[in-house]
Amino acid sequence: MDYRDTPEEAEFRASLREWLAAAIPAGWDKIDDEEAAVRLRKEWHRTLYRAGYVGMSWPEEYGGRGLSPVYDAILNEECGNLNAPPLPSVGYIGRAVFTYATEEQKRRFLPPLLSGEASWCQGFSEPEAGSDLASLRTTARLDGDHYVVNGQKMWTSGGQYADWCLLLARTDPDAPKHKGISAFLVSMTEPGVTCRPIVIASGEAETSEVFWDDVRIPVDQRLGAPGEGWRIAMTTVTYERGPADIGFIANYRRTLRKVEAIAAERGLLDRPETRKALARAYVRGEVLRLNCMEQLSLRVSGRPPGPEGSVAKLLWADAEQSLQHLAMDLLGADEMTGVAADWLSSYFTSRPVSVYGGSAQIQKNIIARMLDMPR
Ligand SMILES: Cc1cc2nc3c(=O)[nH]c(=O)nc-3n(C[C@H](O)[C@H](O)[C@H](O)COP(=O)(O)OP(=O)(O)OC[C@H]3O[C@@H](n4cnc5c(N)ncnc54)[C@H](O)[C@@H]3O)c2cc1C
Repeated sequence: MDYRDTPEEAEFRASLREWLAAAIPAGWDKIDDEEAAVRLRKEWHRTLYRAGYVGMSWPEEYGGRGLSPVYDAILNEECGNLNAPPLPSVGYIGRAVFTYATEEQKRRFLPPLLSGEASWCQGFSEPEAGSDLASLRTTARLDGDHYVVNGQKMWTSGGQYADWCLLLARTDPDAPKHKGISAFLVSMTEPGVTCRPIVIASGEAETSEVFWDDVRIPVDQRLGAPGEGWRIAMTTVTYERGPADIGFIANYRRTLRKVEAIAAERGLLDRPETRKALARAYVRGEVLRLNCMEQLSLRVSGRPPGPEGSVAKLLWADAEQSLQHLAMDLLGADEMTGVAADWLSSYFTSRPVSVYGGSAQIQKNIIARMLDMPR
């Protein structure tokens, strides 16, 4: 693949840059109040959608523009370059709906997901089922034309702000554990759904635990066939893991420049260990960039993402965590005492990157299987 822009892509990039320069809300990254920050992200989603920038590679009949995934990558990159608010993550839940939904479900659920009218969360993990997701215990019992759901989900990110949930529950307790699970599209406002935010070390309540007590879900909100939940979950996490997320690279480079500036301000740039650490951080970013480009070229050639997304997830977690660790080394006590408190929060935010979407160890297991290594 030739990674340079075609004339059409270059024209798109230029008009996008111009639009972003005017549209990015000033000071968005200085908002301290969490609810205000969530409101801003939802509004940003709608603004992007109105301008035609959400779901560009999706088919037109479901609210997309039918363009090549390269356009999504350009959007990612330019948003990262210009420090725009985070892009809405419509991709992975949307792809699961897109792949397994009935025509009627697609028409009902995909347009509001793309436009930002409805936000979604992912109800997979439970207190006793994370890496071993197939052990999940939440049940969905068929009762006439409804399923009745009971159980507890854990680490449901954004659960407290979401309108809908892609939920996994056990519908057949007698089937082998991977085969007895089904997937559901459930409104978070149904009676019996209780969501409790979890504040993580960064101080943000970015995730939650959700209790499901006799929640009734119409049968036509089951996604896929009964027992197809495991396959749906694997499709979802594959799209979640394979970033082709060029936006991360742009953000990473910006952070690396800031870390370099910290080293310069503190007179540490001449230290061989600082220089080595900065060089390693640069190389990690480049390796990840090349991996993203390779994934993008596979996607452009029509190949759905596969287990190689695990490689990207590992590289991403390693790059992010090492860079934040380096910032902490350079800032020393200042990061702890509040002089550079933003960095401490970023450091804590980087820690779970190697856990969510499947832990680093699980990604390594997947890669080992892909390489046919002994178990
Ligand atoms: C901030 C955050 C956000 C999250 N958001 C969501 C979300 O929105 N929706 C959702 O459903 N889940 C979410 N998760 C859950 C996440 O997917 C799980 O935390 C993750 O899969 C690990 O599961 P666990 O926490 O139960 O740890 P465990 O599975 O108990 O693992 C504990 C440790 O043992 C290791 N381990 C376990 N099994 C193996 C094995 N077979 N081989 C080698 N090592 C192993 C793990 O790598 C880990 O280090 C989120 C988690 C976090 C921290």
